[in-house]
Amino acid sequence: MSTKSLARAVERIVKAGDRELYPGAKLVAWLEGAKEADLYRINTFKVAEELGVDRARLLETCIRLVDDKAFELNWDFHCTECNAVAGSHRHLQEATASDHCPLCNVDFRNQLDRNVEVTFTPSPNLYQVGKRFLDEQTRIIVALHKEKKIRLPEIYVSGLDCLQVPLFRQIFETETLSLRESLRIGQVCIMFTDIKGSTALYDRFGDSAAYGLVRDHFDLLFRSIEEHDGVVVKTIGDSVMASFKRPADGVAAALAIQEAFAEFNRRENLRNEILVKVGLHAGSTIMVNLNNRLDYFGQTVNMAARIQNTAEGGEVVISEAIRSDQDVVERLRGRVANLTKRLVELKGISGSHAVYRLNFADRIARGAGEQAHPAPGGRGQDASARPAALGERAR
Ligand SMILES: [Zn+2]
Repeated sequence: MSTKSLARAVERIVKAGDRELYPGAKLVAWLEGAKEADLYRINTFKVAEELGVDRARLLETCIRLVDDKAFELNWDFHCTECNAVAGSHRHLQEATASDHCPLCNVDFRNQLDRNVEVTFTPSPNLYQVGKRFLDEQTRIIVALHKEKKIRLPEIYVSGLDCLQVPLFRQIFETETLSLRESLRIGQVCIMFTDIKGSTALYDRFGDSAAYGLVRDHFDLLFRSIEEHDGVVVKTIGDSVMASFKRPADGVAAALAIQEAFAEFNRRENLRNEILVKVGLHAGSTIMVNLNNRLDYFGQTVNMAARIQNTAEGGEVVISEAIRSDQDVVERLRGRVANLTKRLVELKGISGSHAVYRLNFADRIARGAGEQAHPAPGGRGQDASARPAALGERAR
C-alpha cells in the first residue's frame, strides 16, 4: 500500500467522530509525502518541529491513532554503549530491566528517561516498510557501529515522556510491566496530597455529603495535575500520588491546587472546610507493576510521602532537591509569600532533612484573589513577595 492510502485511512479516522485531533490535518499531509525512512520509526517530536505544531498534542494524536489501529507503538531500547536499537517491543509487558547489544556484545541496564525511545510505525495492514529498506538499515547501522557513529536522535520521545501523557495512561490502562521487571528512571518528581482532617469532614457532614466533597476535591486535584503535565499515579484513601517529569511543573501544579481550593472554599462558602496538604520530592526511582498498574517504587517515593506528612492544611512542602532545581527557583520567584526552611526527621528515613514550606494559609483565609497572581519576575512588589524569600529567609 502507498503513503497515499495510509494518509487517506488516517484522514478518515481524524474526521470520524467528534474527537478533536488538532494536528491531524497537518499529520495527514505529512504522511502522504513521507518516505520509507520517515515511516520506519516516526519520531513524533521531530515531526512536530517540522510541522510547527505543539509536540505534546502531536504525541497525543499518535497515541490515539494507536488506539484506532492506524499506528503501532514501539518501545525502542537503545544500547547505552553504541546507541543502536538493541531491543524493540510493541508492549511494555515485554520490556526488561536490562538488554543485550549483539553489536557491542554487552549487557546494559535500561533507564526510561535515557535510553528508552518511543516511536510509531504505521499498522502493517495500512502500510508496510519494505524488506529491502530494512536490510539496508541493518547494513547502515552495522557500518556506523564500526565507526562508533550511531546517535540517539537529538530530540526524541523518551519512555518517560510517553508515560507522562495522561491519555496514554487512560487508553492503555492495562499496559504495564511484567510483574518481575522494573525500569529505572534517572529523575522524576513525585507529589503526594492529603486532605486536612478528612475524618472530621465525615463527622460534620455525614458520609454522603462528605463523599461528594471528597469527589469534588479529586476532580480539582486531577485537573490541576494534568494541566501541568503531570499524571495521577493512584489514589490511596483521600490521598493522591502524582508524577511530573519536571520539578517546576510539580511546583506549578501544587500552587494551582492551593489556589483552586481557596477558590473552591469561597465558592462553596465552606470557610476552609477543604484544606489540602501537598508534598513534593524529586529523584531517581524505579517503575514497577503494582496491582497491575504502573507505579513508582523506592526511597524517592517514600521521601515524598513523608514530606507530605509534615505539611499542614493549605501548605505545600518541598524537599531540598525540589527547591534547588533551577527552573523551580525561576518559577517561585515573586510568587511565594512565605518560604520557610525546617529541619525535620522523616519516619523510617535516617538523619534530619531540610524541607521548605510554602505557606498559603494566610492568603486563603483572606480570600486569595488579589495576591494570588503577582506578575512574573517579582520586581516592584512588596518585600514579602520578593525572591529574598527564596534566598535569604530560607537559609
Ligand atoms: Zn551496542
